[in-house]
Amino acid sequence: MATAFAPRVYKNFINGEWVESCGGKGMENRNPANRDELVGTFPASNSGDVSAAVDAARAAFRGWSLTPAPKRAEILFRAAEILVRRKEEFARDMTREMGKVLAETRGDVQEAIDMTYLMAGEGRRMFGHTTPSELPNKTASSVRVPAGVAGLITPWNFPMAIPSWKCMPALVCGNTAVLKPAEDTPLSTFNLTQALDEAGLPAGVLNVVFGDGPDAGAPILKNLQVDLVSFTGSTEIGRIVSEACAPTFKKCHLEMGGKNIIVVMDDANLDLAIDGALWGGFGTTGQRCTAASRVAVQKGVYRHFAEKFIARAKSLKVGDGLDPDTQMGPCINEQQLSTVMKYVQIGIDERAKLATGGHRLEDAAHAKGWFHEPTVFTDCDPQMRICQEEIFGPVVSLIPFDTFDDALSIANNVRYGLSASIYTRNINHALQAQRDLETGIVYVNAPTIGAEVHLPFGGTKNTGNGHRESGTAALDFYSDWKTLYIDFSDRLQRAQID
Ligand code: ADP
Repeated sequence: MATAFAPRVYKNFINGEWVESCGGKGMENRNPANRDELVGTFPASNSGDVSAAVDAARAAFRGWSLTPAPKRAEILFRAAEILVRRKEEFARDMTREMGKVLAETRGDVQEAIDMTYLMAGEGRRMFGHTTPSELPNKTASSVRVPAGVAGLITPWNFPMAIPSWKCMPALVCGNTAVLKPAEDTPLSTFNLTQALDEAGLPAGVLNVVFGDGPDAGAPILKNLQVDLVSFTGSTEIGRIVSEACAPTFKKCHLEMGGKNIIVVMDDANLDLAIDGALWGGFGTTGQRCTAASRVAVQKGVYRHFAEKFIARAKSLKVGDGLDPDTQMGPCINEQQLSTVMKYVQIGIDERAKLATGGHRLEDAAHAKGWFHEPTVFTDCDPQMRICQEEIFGPVVSLIPFDTFDDALSIANNVRYGLSASIYTRNINHALQAQRDLETGIVYVNAPTIGAEVHLPFGGTKNTGNGHRESGTAALDFYSDWKTLYIDFSDRLQRAQID
C-alpha cells in the first residue's frame, strides 16, 4: 500500500505481479515544490520490461475480450469506489509528485473517478447499430469489438485523470493494455493501478512500465504485438509517435499541444472574464494543454481589464500545493522552468511589455522548488512567438483588438486548435464564435479549461489527429466496428445488382 510521506521503492506491474525492472535501474520521483523531498524510487524500465508487459497483455487478450462487457464494467465500478474511498490520500500523493494545489489534485482524482464510473456504465451500453438491409430477408447490423493490445503513453500534468481517460475506455471495450506514465508523476499511476488490481482486474489485462520516453515508451511503439497507441504529450513527441506507428499501421491517437485563447468583448461581464482568465491562465501553473495563454481583449475595455488582471495575477500566492493558502504551485521540473524563463526573455526581446512577474522565485520559501512568478505581458502582437508557441507555464499574453472579426482571426491564426473561449453578452457573437473558432472545444462565458468526462475531448491542427478522448467518442478509438449480415432468403442475393 502507498503510505503517505514514506519514500519507498516501487515496481512495474506485469501480469498481475509487482516486479522489478530487468535492467535493475531506478529513477527518483522528487517533489517539485521541494526537491529535497524524495517521494519514491521507480523502475527506469527498458525494452525487456516492455516486451514482458506486452507479452502479458497479449496472453490476457482473448480471455478479457471474451469476458462480457457488463462484467468488465463491474470491475471498473469497484475500482471507482476504491478511488472515491482513497481520494484524499491519492490527491496528496499527487500534489507531492506534481506540485499543483490540493484543490486541483482532488479534481484530478475526481476526474479519474468520473471517467471510471462513466466507462463502467458504458459496459452495459456499448451500442451498435441495426439497420434495414437493402435486400429482402436479410439483416444488417454492426457491433463494437475489442481492438487488441493498447499502448498508452501519458504526460505528467494530469497524473491520474489522463491515464484513466485511456485505461478505462480501453479496458471496458475489451482490450488489454500496457501503460507507460510520465517519468515525473509515476506515483499517481501506481495508485490508479493499485485500485484496479484491488478491484479484481485479471492478471495481464493492465500492465504498467515506469520509465522515460526513449527507453520505456519507444519500445511500445515498435512492438509488433501492440495494435493501437494512445499518446498525450508534446507535438514534437507526438510526431515521433505517429511516425513510429505508421510502418505497422498501428491505430494511433495523438493528443498534443495547445495555444488557447480567451476573447473578451467590450460587452462582457468583466469581473467574470477576469476570474476566468486567471483560472485559465494560472490554474495548474499554466501547465495544461487547455491553458489560456492568450487573452485577447477588445480595445474599449482593454486598459481596464489589463489593470485589474495584472493586479490579480501579482497577488496570487505561489508555494507548496499542500499549503491551503497556496493558489499556484511550482513548475514540474527544472527543464519546464527553464522553458518558461526562455519564453519570458523571448517576450522581452520581442518588445512585449512585461507587466508583472518574469522571474524565478528564489527566496527562502521557494528556493528548493521550481517556482516561477505569475507573468503577464501586455500590448502583444498576435504574431509574436509568445502568442504563437506553447509555453506550458504561468505566462499570459494580453492582445488588444478592434473588431469581432479581428478577434476570430487572431484566435484562429495559430498552429494549434484545442480550446477557445469568448466572454460576451451578445448572442450573435456567442453563436458565431461557437461556429467559427477552429478548435475542438469552445466555451462561452467560461475559461478554456474545465472539460467534462462525458463529452468528447480533443483538438484540430497540430493538437490532434482526429480522434477524441472521453465520452462515447473514446469508444470509437478503443473498439473496431464489425459489420454483420445474415441472409435468410435461401438464394443468392447480390447487393447493388439485384
Ligand atoms: P511533456 O512535454 O508533457 O513532458 P512529452 O511529449 O515529452 O511531454 O512526454 C509525454 C509522454 O511521452 C511521457 O510519458 C514521455 O515519457 C513519453 N515520451 C517521450 N519521448 C518518447 C518517445 N521517443 N517515444 C515514446 N514515448 C515518449
